[in-house]
Amino acid sequence: MPERVIIHTPAEIEKIRRAGAVTGEVRDAIASAVRPGMTTFDLDQIAGEIIRATGGRSAFLGYGDFPGNVCISVNDTVIHGIGSPKTILENGDIVSIDVGVAIGGALGDCAVTVPIGEISASAKHLLDGTKKALFAGIDAARGGNPLRKVSAAVESVGRHYGLGIVRDYVGHGCGIQLHEPPEVPNFTGWGGGPVLQPGMVICIEPMFNLGGSAVKVDRRDGWTVRTRDGSLSAHFEHMILITEKEAEILTWQKTM
Ligand code: MG
Repeated sequence: MPERVIIHTPAEIEKIRRAGAVTGEVRDAIASAVRPGMTTFDLDQIAGEIIRATGGRSAFLGYGDFPGNVCISVNDTVIHGIGSPKTILENGDIVSIDVGVAIGGALGDCAVTVPIGEISASAKHLLDGTKKALFAGIDAARGGNPLRKVSAAVESVGRHYGLGIVRDYVGHGCGIQLHEPPEVPNFTGWGGGPVLQPGMVICIEPMFNLGGSAVKVDRRDGWTVRTRDGSLSAHFEHMILITEKEAEILTWQKTM
């Protein structure tokens, strides 16, 4: 049986389009607030203010008891990092910011990894490859294509760049709920998946590591996902609307 999909109604799509645009702007504002010397707790507080100023609320805060306004994942942290007064951002770090905003009865979800100051050539390679994989996935996400094509496109860029492709976490349908079917893996070998249809909204979100693909969850906080080998990790995510032609990016970033 192909996995269930959700086709959003035109009225829902209008709400989702607005939530996506707000979320993209929020992500850009948070990303441009990143400064060396600040703690990730400070950045999370700023993110909370930026989100509240839109009239929306964080879709992550309180989701399964997540304590942050956004996910802030530094260097070897893959995803689900929690802002902490003990974590100071420094020149040469890479920091992933994952943002979810609930507004007007819909949700947006997107992520970006930003360099702080001058980063190493290998960190730049990681960021380039992960971002390129996201756009390869978006290019493959057309109505009528099997979802597998999206996964294959993302995976192929990751392999070409020699990066570790995280398998424990995947993209997902989105729009009205934070996580809707179907799952959107960044790798193949799991079957065909559903056929993409106009009206579907999905989040494509490659999570790639400079080293191996294995990850571990922090036992103390139960959230923070780090690479097992301590290598750097990057995460780029867009929420897109499937159409009959090329997908519409709902969380567009002007600076990306
Ligand atoms: Mg997501």
